[in-house]
Formats: sequence, structure tokens, C-alpha cells
Amino acid sequence: MNKAKPLLGIFGGTFDPIHYGHLNCALQVQQHCGLQQVRLMPCHLPPHRASPGVSAAQRAQMVELAIADYPQLALEPLELQQQRPSYSAISLAQLHQQFPEHQLAFILGMDAFNQFTRWYRWQDILQRADLIVCQRPQHATVSTASQPLLQQHQIQTAAELQQPGHGRILLFNNALQDISATELRQQIPSLQQCPDWLPQSVWNYILQHRLYTLRTP
Ligand code: ATP
Repeated sequence: MNKAKPLLGIFGGTFDPIHYGHLNCALQVQQHCGLQQVRLMPCHLPPHRASPGVSAAQRAQMVELAIADYPQLALEPLELQQQRPSYSAISLAQLHQQFPEHQLAFILGMDAFNQFTRWYRWQDILQRADLIVCQRPQHATVSTASQPLLQQHQIQTAAELQQPGHGRILLFNNALQDISATELRQQIPSLQQCPDWLPQSVWNYILQHRLYTLRTP
């Protein structure tokens, strides 16, 4: 019988900016699913989709500040180094080669999972990794498009991830947090102090670099 490899979590996103919705999901999944580490992977954003005045390097620096106190979390810079749109299927294939001693678990929120079957070569993702889907307020139900996938691949317990394999889907019971980066970006220009949603270090960085003050054209 194959021996199970340690689990490595990959949590992709724009992280524009990273907030406690992301951070707490990463921490809870890491602990409850027994992952050796969770790597937060900010995607490349084409200039027309990027927040004006906020570079990829700055999104990455905010991730690094947010995770500084948590040795079980790390920045995964793979997609930032690319000058093309990020495709999780390609990134996970690369990470699969980069971490041959690990089994990969791809972490995503329910809103993202509900779109999953529209992603580029999504079937390939299930060949490389398991999925851990975090609950998100306002996205309580599984979409019609993702239902069949869930029915076919759902596992009921995190312990099953510790068996060798891939393509399994766990709906993870994280604490719900009604936080969104889009709302945060809209609110930042009028905030006087660090909101509950943001780590203080990230807030300080935003102030210092005057981020999110320019409007999207
Ligand atoms: P927006 O509010 O603009 O959609 P976002 O925070 O969802 O921003 P991303 O940085 O791309 O944008 O999110 C990265 C991943 O984190 C996605 O899979 C998303 O579903 C998940 N996520 C984001 N916020 C939460 C939250 N509050 N609770 C659970 N998962 C979340």
C-alpha cells in the first residue's frame, strides 16, 4: 500500500488586500486538516484588472506581513513571477513537481468553488490535488454547476485527506466571516483606523504606501 505523504495546502487568490477572511481560513484549515503548511499564492493580475497603484509585489508584501507570526503559513510566489494570466491547473502541475514529497490540497472559498467548472482545465486540478472548500457568508449553497462534481468527489472527514489520493472534495466547516476584499477596498479611503477585518501590520503598510486611494477608471 502507498504511504501517505505530508499534506501541503495551496491557497490561491488575489489578496488585494489580504484580510482576516483569508488568514483565518488558512489557519483553521491548516490545523483541522493536519496540513504541514499552507502556502498563500497571490495570482498574477493583468494591468487592466489590478487595483490602480497597487503592484503585485505590494500584494505579496502584505501577505508576508499578515503571516509573519505564523510559521505554519508561507508565501508562494510562483504566479507573481509570471507575466501571463494565472491558471491554477498550470500552477498546481508545477507545484506538484516542486514538492514531490507532499500531497497537495487546494484551498478555495465557496464562491470560487461555485465557478470551478468554468476554470481552465479544472479536471487537471483534481488530478494533482484535493480540494478544501471554505464556507463563506452570502455563498451558502453549492451552485448547480458544481453539485455533480461534489456528489462524485465529496469526502466527509478531514482524516480521509491523510490517505494517499487526489481529487477528493472536503466542505470545510470554518467559522463564517463576512469579509470581502472588494468592500474593504471601497471603504479604505474613508477609514480613520485599522478595521477589524485587517491585521494591523497590513493596515500600517496600506497607510505608509497610500494604497487603495485611487479609483478604478
Ligand atoms: P472579493 O471580495 O473581491 O471577491 P476575495 O477576498 O474573495 O475578494 P480573493 O483574494 O481572490 O478575493 O480570495 C481568495 C480566496 O479566498 C477565494 O477562494 C475566496 O473564495 C476566499 N475567501 C475570500 N474571503 C473569504 C471569506 N471571508 N471567507 C472564506 N473564504 C474567503
